[in-house]
Parts: sequence; structure tokens; C-alpha cells
Amino acid sequence: MSERTRRTRIVATLGPATCSPASIRRIVRSGVDIVRLNFSHGSHEFHAQLVRDVRQVAAELGQHVAILQDLSGPKMRVGRMDEDAARLRTGSEVLVVEGHGVGTAEQLFVEAAGVVRSLEPGRVIRLADGQLELRVVARADDGVVCRVVHGGTLRSRQGVNVPGLAQGVKALTRKDRKDLEFGLSLGVDAVALSFVQDASDVVTLRKLLARHGARPFVVAKIERAGALDNLDAILDVTGGVMVARGDLGVEIGVEKVPMAQKHIIRRARAKRRPVITATQMLESMIERPTPTRAEVSDVANAVLEGTDALMLSGETAVGRYPVEAVRTLANVAMEAEHEIARVPSPIHEPDGVEDPSQAVTRAARVAARAVGARAVLGFTNSGRTARLVSSMRPTRAVFGFTYVEATARRMKFFWGVTPMMIHQASTVAGMIEEAEALLVAGRLVKKGDRLVIVCGQQVTTGATNSIHIHTVDPPRGRQARAK
Ligand code: ATP
Ligand code: MG
Ligand code: MG
Repeated sequence: MSERTRRTRIVATLGPATCSPASIRRIVRSGVDIVRLNFSHGSHEFHAQLVRDVRQVAAELGQHVAILQDLSGPKMRVGRMDEDAARLRTGSEVLVVEGHGVGTAEQLFVEAAGVVRSLEPGRVIRLADGQLELRVVARADDGVVCRVVHGGTLRSRQGVNVPGLAQGVKALTRKDRKDLEFGLSLGVDAVALSFVQDASDVVTLRKLLARHGARPFVVAKIERAGALDNLDAILDVTGGVMVARGDLGVEIGVEKVPMAQKHIIRRARAKRRPVITATQMLESMIERPTPTRAEVSDVANAVLEGTDALMLSGETAVGRYPVEAVRTLANVAMEAEHEIARVPSPIHEPDGVEDPSQAVTRAARVAARAVGARAVLGFTNSGRTARLVSSMRPTRAVFGFTYVEATARRMKFFWGVTPMMIHQASTVAGMIEEAEALLVAGRLVKKGDRLVIVCGQQVTTGATNSIHIHTVDPPRGRQARAK
């Protein structure tokens, strides 16, 4: 296997810049593992078409691509903007009105009942993750007159924050419930919950999913101060987390975001949950084909901190250079990974007693090094074994074998795991034999290579409790057929 295989995952938000099958194909070929559908933007029909196109492209390319539905959550947003964007000039005046309507540089609409018109003069309103700032100068009918303190481009449905305004609302709104039902009907692989406050928000979502008989991967977006306080409890009930730096920065202050990011990644790693680092990773590439040095550093540092995945938002949704942004992310991540290989990242010692599958995946990392293994193989139905192997960050290649298609896509969230489909086997030996044959046929391993295999003692029980150290020795005929 090539030493140049990237292990950090790439999430790309789809939007107007990436909504044709051709553009989806280009970004997937450039390295996208997971596409994100942001339900704060775009109609149901728009998202349904994207799901069809992504599935089609993935099938054509013979690749697994996971689809992540991101629910809006309780966030105030501006309505649609005339021509989808307006330039608000610093120093100018703008009327902010409550209700529905098409916004311009002179008049904005905010869909928030009773909040805007009650703002007193002097109050600050932040737009688009805090990139634009307004100050209330006077009250008006149905709204307030504001002075633009920091101008900039405002796009349709960008966020509105009023610092200090109580936000005791639940993460899952009525709109989210409808969107979720729709997303599940499309067969999304994962669901992201915005503005999680505590574990109960995630539990509410899980119960709702259970009622639909669905089990997508759940990602809790950490973007509130409360979520930081309740992080460990959230990690105990979620599939993974996202460091949602946009709203987090507005909420806790941008200067606190880097430390919060390190903390979230550290705790997620300790709890062996995948973590996605998101927002403004390559923001300047929305307009330009090359990144700033600061952006490159930020991406590399997230990888060194141990993030499982990196996410692009506007860069791929509305940017002029979506393909270049994906390529840049991939290249920077790979370069940083060399450093991880040189100085392996420390692995958390267990907090207490580990269950057998946790202990076995910990041992697999040690065994892989000790015998100079070519790869670690995990066999998994739900994806859990692959997640645990990944969380130990083995320095060797990791293959996750499953006979469940949805599980193969779920594994796209886990650092370093290459998902592989096999048939449902009746014996462990048969399962290993098929996996070996597939790896040999794909030229991913060769005769004489050592493999560390993590699986259950029996295929039927499902409990991962054993390690096999296997030397590749394919039957002659099969090796000859391999191309
Ligand atoms: P969130 O709080 O969920 O991150 P956001 O508004 O910050 O929401 P992002 O997905 O982070 O959105 O960024 C995507 C950018 O692309 C936004 O500025 C948005 O205006 C723009 N955009 C326009 N149309 C779409 C679309 N259909 N899907 C996603 N983003 C879109
Ligand atoms: Mg955002
Ligand atoms: Mg957000």
C-alpha cells in the first residue's frame, strides 16, 4: 500500500457551486469522503437531487461516499437576499425588519418572532458567523434601524447573532423534525444536530431516529458554551462531534476557539469518538485559488491535534474553487500526517476497565508495530470495531470489512479506515480468506506481508474479542488472477 494514502477524512458542504453531477464527481475524485447537506440552505427538492447525484457518482467511481444531513437548529437567519447576496457598506444604515421578505443592502428581513423589534439602541447584531457587525441606533415599526459597523457581503439565509440574548431553546426545532423525516426518506448516512446544549438534546434525536427505525451516525455540533461544559456527557451518547467554529466563535469569543478546539479533540479522542473540525478552514479560497499561510497552518494543526476529519463549508458550497480547496485540504493533511507517522500521537490510557473490544483494538496497535504488519484489518457489522481500531491511530493501513453497505459508508467518518465489502461468511477462517484475497487482488498487500486481524472468535456472536496475526499466503491460482 502506498505510503501516501491520506488518513484524515474530508467533508465537503454541497451548494450552488457543487450541485451538478460533474462537479460532485470532480470533488469526490479530489478526495471528498463525506458530503454535507446543510438544511439551513436549499429546498428539499435541491437536497433530494443532490442525494441522487452523490449516490450515482459514488456507484460510477466504485467509491463509498457518506452523506451527512446537517439540521438547522434554533438559529436566527436573514431571509433570502435579492440576487442571493448584498454588499453592506461600513457606515451605512440598514433597516432590520422581522418577518419574511427579500433583503437588500438597505433592508434586511430576519425570521425571528418578537426578538428583533425588542432590541434597544446600542445593541450589537452579528451577521454571517460574526463577519459583519451592526449596531442598533433606533427602533422602527416591526424592527430596528442599524448602523453598519463592519460591512461585507451578506448572503441569503446567513446567521444572525445577538450577543447576550438568552438562547435557552432546545436543539431540535419543528423544522428540524420535518427535515429529519425527509432526510431519512432519502437514506442519509449521518445526521448532525446543531446547537446541542447537553446530552438530552442528543438523546431526543436518538429516540426520534429509533421511532423511525433508522440508525444513521449522529454528530453533535459543539457550538455553545453549554455544550463545552457538558462535553463528556454528550460524547457518551453521540456517534461523533463537530467543532463548529463559526457559531462557537460568536458565542464564546473567537480568541477562545483554538483552546476549545484542542479540548474537544482531546476529549473525543479519549472517548474514542470521531471528531470533525469545521468552518473557515480555507475561507479565502472562496474567492482565490490559493490558501493563506495562516489557513494552511490551521489545517495542519487540526490534523496534528488528532482530528478525524476536516470540513469545508462555503469553500465548496458557494466558492469559485471547490476542487482546488479539496485538493489543498488533502495535500496539507497528508503532509501533516507524515509528522504523525514520525512522532506517533499519544494514545489515551484507559480511564478504567475497558471492554474486550476496546482492549483488543488497543492491543492491535501494539501488535501491528511489533510484527511490522502491512495492515490492520477490522471486521465489523455496525462499524464499532472499525471505529475502535481507528481511534487507536495505528501507524499501518487500516481496512474495515463489512457485508453491510451502510456500515461501509459510516466508516468514512473514521480516521484512516478504508471500507471494504465482503460477503457474509459462516466461519472466521472463510471471512479472513475472502478479505485476504480481496486485498491481494487489489494489490493492497502481497505474499509474505503480515496482517493484524481484529474480529470475534465466532462470526455469529458478534463480540470482537480476538487478534490474529496472519501472514499473506494466497493460493497460487488466485494470485495469478489478481491484476
Ligand atoms: P451552519 O451554522 O450550519 O454552519 P452556515 O450558514 O454557516 O450554517 P455553512 O454550511 O457553514 O453555512 O456555509 C455555507 C455557505 O454557503 C453559507 O454562507 C451559505 O450562505 C452558502 N450557501 C448557499 N447555498 C447553500 C446551500 N444550498 N447549501 C449550503 N450552503 C449554501
Ligand atoms: Mg457555518
Ligand atoms: Mg453553526
